[in-house]
Amino acid sequence: MFIGHFAIGLLARRAAPRAGLPVLLAAPQVLDMVFPVLVVAGVEQVAIAPGITAVSPLDLREIGWSHSLVTAIGWSIAFALGYLALTRQRREAIVLGACVMSHWVLDWITHVPDLPLYPGGPKLGLGLWHSLPGTLVVEGALFVAGVWTYATCTRARDRIGAVAWWALVATLVGMYLGAIFGPKPPDADALLVAAFGAWALLAWGWWIERHRAAA
Ligand SMILES: [Zn+2]
Repeated sequence: MFIGHFAIGLLARRAAPRAGLPVLLAAPQVLDMVFPVLVVAGVEQVAIAPGITAVSPLDLREIGWSHSLVTAIGWSIAFALGYLALTRQRREAIVLGACVMSHWVLDWITHVPDLPLYPGGPKLGLGLWHSLPGTLVVEGALFVAGVWTYATCTRARDRIGAVAWWALVATLVGMYLGAIFGPKPPDADALLVAAFGAWALLAWGWWIERHRAAA
């Protein structure tokens, strides 16, 4: 899943009103932000295998530390505790920890069995990615709900607050459709460049948040 994860962060704004957009975008993507770092470090492995599913060409051979059920629980607790230590916002810390965990649940629904129970353990995945219409419906509905939630929980304080926000929404949709219908990444290196792009979105979120206020 891709924009489905961002959708969860946007949806969470209602439950965690003091959590800013950067952290709302980051929490549901922690597993996918750790993943390219571990691939570069040689701990995890991915290859491009066109046709492996109807939606995603990724052959996720080894993702036990970023994406196993057990380590995902660990990432969730660590993220919540880190946020709590920095901000003292208890409610937001719990919601953001749940957002981190939601990544695993959504990946479990979409991925073919490549998500280990624990590093090196048996692999799980229900395989929604075998159905392109199914993926588009589920992920699209989540994203629309998320965009609606953030857009109504907050309001633009100035022009940038509106333009930068809707440009982010358009960019995420464009990246998503490009990933599904556009040319597949030629190799794992190209994929990693794209994966690190998620980090850049956080700066964008920070910029938007400065120009919006609670509705
Ligand atoms: Zn993932």
